[in-house]
Amino acid sequence: MTPKLPEAPDPAVEYWQNLSEGRLTFGRCRQCDHAWLPVSRECPSCLAADWRFEASTGDAVALSWVVYNHAYNDLWADRLPYVVALIELAEGPRLMSNLVGDFDPTQLRIDHPVRLVIESEGDTAVPRFVPIEQVPEDGDTT
Ligand SMILES: [Zn+2]
Repeated sequence: MTPKLPEAPDPAVEYWQNLSEGRLTFGRCRQCDHAWLPVSRECPSCLAADWRFEASTGDAVALSWVVYNHAYNDLWADRLPYVVALIELAEGPRLMSNLVGDFDPTQLRIDHPVRLVIESEGDTAVPRFVPIEQVPEDGDTT
């Protein structure tokens, strides 16, 4: 017979709870200062279990993205076209998300600035990002 061992709380539960309260949080290691997502019981850099949740400021960039013009799942059919993006938070952690709002995907650039918005999917709060308009590199705003 195997003894029942105590289980550490799943950090994903607190992550989703924080989102439902309006905060996108990530892990920050107290030993090596590494910041990461998705949250896990140990720091993926130094394996220390000594870490804390830290809230994102919401500032981020889109490193890469794909524009879907075909729905591979019926749930997404009424959202076409939609954008799936690799996001890097200003604090360092990366996550896969969607770019939302009224924007032209052809105007996106690598490291395009984006801003966090927390949206609801049914009863679940999910982090998504709105592209921020950029001033053209030549500075001509006319
Ligand atoms: Zn660490």
